[in-house]
Amino acid sequence: MTDVLSLDPGELGALVAELGAPAFRGRQLFQALWRDRLEDWEALRAWPQALRVEAARRWPLRRLRVVRTQTARDGTAKLLVRLADGEQVETVVLPHPYGWSVCVSTEVGCAMGCRFCASGLRGKVRRLTAGEMLDQVSLADAEARRAGARITRIDLMGVGEPLDNYDATVRFLRLAHDPLGFGIAYRRMTVSTSGLVPRILRLADEGLPVTLAVSLHAPDDALRSRLMPVNRAYPVQAVLDAARTYFARTGRRVTFEYLLIAGVNDGDETARRLAARLRGLAAHVNLIPWNPVPEFPYQPSPPERVRAFRAILEAARIPCTVRKELGQEIAAACGQLRSAAEGQGT
Ligand code: SAH
Ligand code: SF4
Repeated sequence: MTDVLSLDPGELGALVAELGAPAFRGRQLFQALWRDRLEDWEALRAWPQALRVEAARRWPLRRLRVVRTQTARDGTAKLLVRLADGEQVETVVLPHPYGWSVCVSTEVGCAMGCRFCASGLRGKVRRLTAGEMLDQVSLADAEARRAGARITRIDLMGVGEPLDNYDATVRFLRLAHDPLGFGIAYRRMTVSTSGLVPRILRLADEGLPVTLAVSLHAPDDALRSRLMPVNRAYPVQAVLDAARTYFARTGRRVTFEYLLIAGVNDGDETARRLAARLRGLAAHVNLIPWNPVPEFPYQPSPPERVRAFRAILEAARIPCTVRKELGQEIAAACGQLRSAAEGQGT
């Protein structure tokens, strides 16, 4: 079945041409889908009735539905979203004074099996389509608009590994950038990856100046392989080399995400090894105290450890920030997101 939510204005134009409609109807449809959140073909009043009726018969609009919204005191909202086939993912809406951002899920579950992350617990169920990703932006934008704001940033940091769902992810980035829709600047989009090296290199050649965030979490292979099985296929050095290439091709400084887990990867010696490995890379480190997930036997690093770790990186002149975790009391922070099977709560 044709998935109109995944098509760009030109492709929609080609589609409506099947019904004898002129190409500008494709642009009209794209705008109606993403600026006005068209739910029902009947509401597309700019179209002749016969065209609406035929479109409705051929191309059902399989829009996402918000099943539940949880809002934290800091304003962060976690949306439990149902897909047309009944699967569910989570989308997080983060209000900032300078424009709101949305954390988008790219898959139902995740195949990478990182040993600290809630998203991987179920394995991968399926990939999302570009339209299912874009519809999460649309739902988040509806939340923002209710508060008089708009979505201006997109982070692919929800459930799933975006580069495991490469084609849909790249299509989604282009659709989200389209000025007839959300018109979000590429430099305000971040693709976060566990380090799929061949896909990082491919992304570097797409001509999309998006920010790449690499989940590093350990400076050497023994520790990283323990935390992230993907490291056995793409070890630390290969990931760092790919990041260097990404910077060379796009001019975009790469972010390294580094979770701090008490007693596992947060020691002074580990910080020094990390600094040594990142020396000379146009990199930025984002330190993230691990968010507890009850299925794993870890604790977040205490604040004094976070400070000490950061101080060592800064002394080595590695630019570094500590992520402020929003929405923790509703488990809306990175890595706490899950895909819920129907009927299961999270
Ligand atoms: N699959 C991609 C993007 C989604 S995960 C990736 O792994 O990069 C987004 C970020 O959340 C990653 O940096 C991931 O390592 C991190 N994360 C996973 N579990 C976490 C947890 N329990 N607490 C904090 N961050 C976590
Ligand atoms: Fe998947 Fe990312 Fe979670 Fe690893 S951290 S299991 S890659 S979502």
